[in-house]
Amino acid sequence: MKPQKILLDVENKLMQINWQDAHESVYDFTDLRRACPCAECQPWKEGGGEIGKSPEAVLRAVGALNAVSDVEPIGGYAIQFRWADGHSSGIYTWDYLRALCPCGEHAKK
Ligand SMILES: [Zn+2]
Ligand SMILES: [Zn+2]
Repeated sequence: MKPQKILLDVENKLMQINWQDAHESVYDFTDLRRACPCAECQPWKEGGGEIGKSPEAVLRAVGALNAVSDVEPIGGYAIQFRWADGHSSGIYTWDYLRALCPCGEHAKK
């Protein structure tokens, strides 16, 4: 499944994806940042990691929890966000984004 259209609504901190099957997903930037799939963010997501060093704590500290400064396509199979704190290691594949869709219909494969 691939997106047909990706819209970033920076003002409302939302990203909308219109998929090939006409499904529409709307993501909150905060949820996307929390769901960062990179190895660095993994321990924190699983409840481990030092609280003070969690991405969320860091982002709150710089007042940038919801801010995306850049989004780059990766080879036609994913996108990468550059968050306002400079973090950008997470690669969000289409499959991953589809599973993250807040409607909950495709959370489990
Ligand atoms: Zn990360
Ligand atoms: Zn959905």
